[in-house]
Amino acid sequence: MEKVLEIRNLRVYFYLTEGTVKAVDGVSLDIRRGEILGLVGESGCGKSVTAQSILRILPESARIVSGEIVFSRNGKAIDLAKLDPEGEEIRDIRGKNISMIFQEPMASFSPVYTVGAQMMEAILLHENVSKEEARRRVVEMLKKVKIPNAEKVVDMYPFELSGGMLQRCMIAMAMSLNPTLLLADEPTTALDVTIQAQILYLMKELQKEYKSSILLITHDMGVVAQMADRVAVMYLGNIVETAEVFELFKNPLHPYTQALLRSIPKIGVRKTRLETIRGMVPDPYNLPTGCKFHNRCERFMKGLCDVKEPPEVEVMPGHKVKCFLYGGEKE
Ligand code: SF4
Ligand code: MG
Repeated sequence: MEKVLEIRNLRVYFYLTEGTVKAVDGVSLDIRRGEILGLVGESGCGKSVTAQSILRILPESARIVSGEIVFSRNGKAIDLAKLDPEGEEIRDIRGKNISMIFQEPMASFSPVYTVGAQMMEAILLHENVSKEEARRRVVEMLKKVKIPNAEKVVDMYPFELSGGMLQRCMIAMAMSLNPTLLLADEPTTALDVTIQAQILYLMKELQKEYKSSILLITHDMGVVAQMADRVAVMYLGNIVETAEVFELFKNPLHPYTQALLRSIPKIGVRKTRLETIRGMVPDPYNLPTGCKFHNRCERFMKGLCDVKEPPEVEVMPGHKVKCFLYGGEKE
């Protein structure tokens, strides 16, 4: 299937006074046309940094140290990692070809302008249309994301809307230019469970209609199961397993993926405590040698896992895992 984005061996480091944090440390990832790729892992594992690297909206202390982020824009391959983050090309791509929705809708809208004005601005920035036409399109998009009284909401300020409504507005804004790729970073984490389900359903409907690709970042395996076509599991700056969603849930290979799946609460099973993954998340300034999961892994092999970094092995077509249990130098 055609790829819209190919990340190759991406490394993004943060240079802080306390030391260097290797937030993304050799990530390779493809996003195919029209698919939802779930990027899953605990907080702090580098998921958001990966997304911010694509749009080149990293914090000042972060740098892309190496790697490629090849985006296919109207058939032309562009390495986003090489672009000037302030330059015209990436600014043109942002919003128009690749857009992003964030966890906190309140933080993505300016409090001093109406929702409609902010959505119109995005359209006017990228397309040569009149203000009236832009406004008409905003109202149409608000209706598409099932906002009641769209004609009124267009003139409302963010604080006048609930979190769920604002999140719908943000999705409308992100989709209004029909982007090739939508980056959704924990889009429903801040919302309560019922609203969360509605928003996810809405995103899936729009994705089908627009045939866009979505990189869906989440720490929630339940959200992945509901939404994703394929899944990439991330741990401390590495992708440790990639597979189609059914395959991953049926046949999880990496000990970390297995632990993540065990931590999902099962319906009908009463647990006094959610099973958590044993061991501590390592100090980000001082990452483990070898396999980064080795201090938490039940299958740890001394002298191997703590010494060498496991290679990525394709166990069956489309199912890749980065662990010595499945090849590499085990013997
Ligand atoms: Fe565990 Fe070793 Fe596999 Fe890492 S490489 S996940 S430590 S078995
Ligand atoms: Mg994050």
